[in-house]
Amino acid sequence: MVERSNKIIKKLDGANMDIDLVTEESKISWDQDKCPWNQKDETNEHKCAEKNVSICPYFCGIEYLDKVLCSYPQKNPSID
Ligand code: SF4
Repeated sequence: MVERSNKIIKKLDGANMDIDLVTEESKISWDQDKCPWNQKDETNEHKCAEKNVSICPYFCGIEYLDKVLCSYPQKNPSID
């Protein structure tokens, strides 16, 4: 049994993440949406989070299990 309660879920700062929506279809067995910024720029260079490097200004987090929360084309409103 899996318990789902905010009392047992911790929010931990400082994750060093690699997150993107640019994996070739042939390398994964699930559907993957496209990054709207990459679509606009006709590239695959934009990544949501790049380990040790950067986090996209439109990245607003992850919803379980693997949904990217993206505010493109408005920057994440929690960024000053
Ligand atoms: S956060 Fe949005 S705009 Fe930024 S790389 Fe991810 S999907 Fe693209």
